[in-house]
Amino acid sequence: MKIQLIEASAFRLPNRRDFKWAGLNGELGHFVLVRIRTDEGITGYGESTPLPDWGGDFGRRSGETAATVISMINDIFAPALLGTDPTAVTSARQRMDGLVVGNPYAKCAIDIALHDLWGKSVGQPIYRLLGGKVRETVPVAHMIGLMNEKDAAEEGLTAVSDGVRALQIKGGVDSERDIRLVRTLRREVGPGVTLRLDANQGYGHPKRARIVVDRLVDAGVDMVEQPTTGLSYLAEVTAHARVPIIADESCWDLADALEVVQRRAADCISIYLAKAGGFVGARAVAAVAEAQRIPCDINGSIESAIGNAANTHFVLAHPSVSLASVIPISAPSGAHPYLAAGRYYEDDVISKAFEVKDGAILPLDGPGLGIEVDESRLAKYRCD
Ligand SMILES: [Mg+2]
Repeated sequence: MKIQLIEASAFRLPNRRDFKWAGLNGELGHFVLVRIRTDEGITGYGESTPLPDWGGDFGRRSGETAATVISMINDIFAPALLGTDPTAVTSARQRMDGLVVGNPYAKCAIDIALHDLWGKSVGQPIYRLLGGKVRETVPVAHMIGLMNEKDAAEEGLTAVSDGVRALQIKGGVDSERDIRLVRTLRREVGPGVTLRLDANQGYGHPKRARIVVDRLVDAGVDMVEQPTTGLSYLAEVTAHARVPIIADESCWDLADALEVVQRRAADCISIYLAKAGGFVGARAVAAVAEAQRIPCDINGSIESAIGNAANTHFVLAHPSVSLASVIPISAPSGAHPYLAAGRYYEDDVISKAFEVKDGAILPLDGPGLGIEVDESRLAKYRCD
């Protein structure tokens, strides 16, 4: 089996409401789709959700846009991968790394499509290719975007009444607001729901960040994600915090994960397939985390069904991904199982909703990604 065609294009989905986090200037819901077709007539789908204004410490990582991802795939990676074996996922990554430094979001879209093809070609879901299930469901954490306190509290309470047991609360712009919101949510949801505040690097110098984290703990927070910038500052906050500190912007790939461990910079890691350039890179991060008993979650940029399916398979197969993950629950319009939990878009590019139970996504057991991509919806939402 050989790769015959690789093509990337852009699409967007309608948002349920305006979701923001600190530093996000645009709107969510913009994606790059990649289709890879083989000489045996099998099509694999991959996705990238590039953000130009997110990530990295002190501006050391470059943002990516739909245009840069499409150009990278169509102009550089596609010519190099045509005619190669689509199941050779590691050597595909080596080829891409040999051509272009960085640009992991573009590499991720191809890597997901290759895994989808690999699974379809052998009739197995991706989680089996990764070694099989180590858990039966994928617990979801619902992300509460930056919004006024009343709306944020309502969004959180609705998601909890839907059944999720974890909330990721976006903050980092106004620490007093974050502390009040955590206090309100803790009072309303009781002790059984995990409250995780994501400051997106927003609490500044570690001396200030330490004070804010302490006050968040007093208000009832369970975990704080990326309170400050850079591994040195993060390590200082982690050393003094009474709750686990999660590295997100500070940990993209294997080299970062090793540095997090060496410097004891964080207690947990937020893995994205995109930050690590796809399954191949993200598995290395998960292996380091597992060796060091560091719990992880899978997170991202609120993907469409293609990226969410990939993330679901990843969580199912990796022991270290034991925290509730911010994975949207994908569903076509009118078919979403919940009012708010995991619900960010009013439609998606699949014909059948993800199945859920008690706020967790159930395994996708079909071959490859295990979803039915709806080409008519892809055509409807295409925007390039
Ligand atoms: Mg984050």
